[in-house]
Amino acid sequence: MQYVTVVGAGTMGNGIAHVFAMNGFQVKLVDVKQDFLDRALATITKNLDRQVKKEIITEEQKQEILGRIIMLTELEDGLKGAELVVEAASENEEVKKQLFKTFDEKTDANCILATNTSSISITKIGAVTSRPDKVIGMHFFNPVPVMKLVEVIRGHETSDEIYKTIEELATKLGKTPVEVQDYPGFVSNRVLMPMINEAVYALMEGVATVESIDTVMKLGMAHPMGPLTLADFIGLDVCLDIMNVLHDGIGDPKYRPCPLLKKMVAAGHLGRKSGKGFYDYS
Ligand code: NAD
Repeated sequence: MQYVTVVGAGTMGNGIAHVFAMNGFQVKLVDVKQDFLDRALATITKNLDRQVKKEIITEEQKQEILGRIIMLTELEDGLKGAELVVEAASENEEVKKQLFKTFDEKTDANCILATNTSSISITKIGAVTSRPDKVIGMHFFNPVPVMKLVEVIRGHETSDEIYKTIEELATKLGKTPVEVQDYPGFVSNRVLMPMINEAVYALMEGVATVESIDTVMKLGMAHPMGPLTLADFIGLDVCLDIMNVLHDGIGDPKYRPCPLLKKMVAAGHLGRKSGKGFYDYS
């Protein structure tokens, strides 16, 4: 495999393109607007510069890596010749279903179709294509060039052969793949989000302050950052969406999103990206 198309050039897409290009793959990175691609290129360049500084790569290698990434706003052009598509567009089921229909129509029949979704069912996405056996979850973590884990999620129809190909590919990218079945939240968010949600409940009920809750989890549980700091980093809207997916998909009231989390999202306090969440970033 040599030709990879990454669709969506946001936080995750630019990191995924970076990692594939760094490992010798020819990458097409697609987004809907040139502005978004310009921003992605600036981010990739900045992250490569950091790797040059740390002597992980040379300046010459940086130029070669950038030379392996083509940026495009036309999806159809982006899909031409792809052997693997990794979708990292917005976390919206309709957007992803529409994209996968197009991938199915416009790529070679052998092309593998992967999604970086954090919470949408791989089985549902696979079902809109004529090749659900070749649809799989390839869940990278932020920041992609740094984080080692890839959850490889098997939809109901994903074949053993495709699973094996993606598992080997993740290893080739220097990552550690973990096999996960397609249930709401997979493993990562099934375990992480209820913990964050519970931290918000503890705050809402006045059990402790923001700083105290984070300190308990950092010093007592050896977590590198507290759950409320992490929620601000992920985005409170994203946390709420994922709690809703767990609640709707599993149907157990233990996954109900905390009213304080809902209220903060309604107020537009989304964490780092909006300048205010549990902490103030202004
Ligand atoms: P983001 O909002 O930063 O980027 C999404 C990009 O997709 C945007 O640039 C948007 O313009 C583009 N896009 C939307 N519709 C498109 C279309 N039809 N064609 C091409 N591009 C399109 O989002 P993100 O944080 O990078 O998340 C992307 C995916 O990765 C989501 O499914 C998310 O759940 C998942 N994810 C996110 C994280 C994280 O920490 N941010 C971690 C793991 C997985």
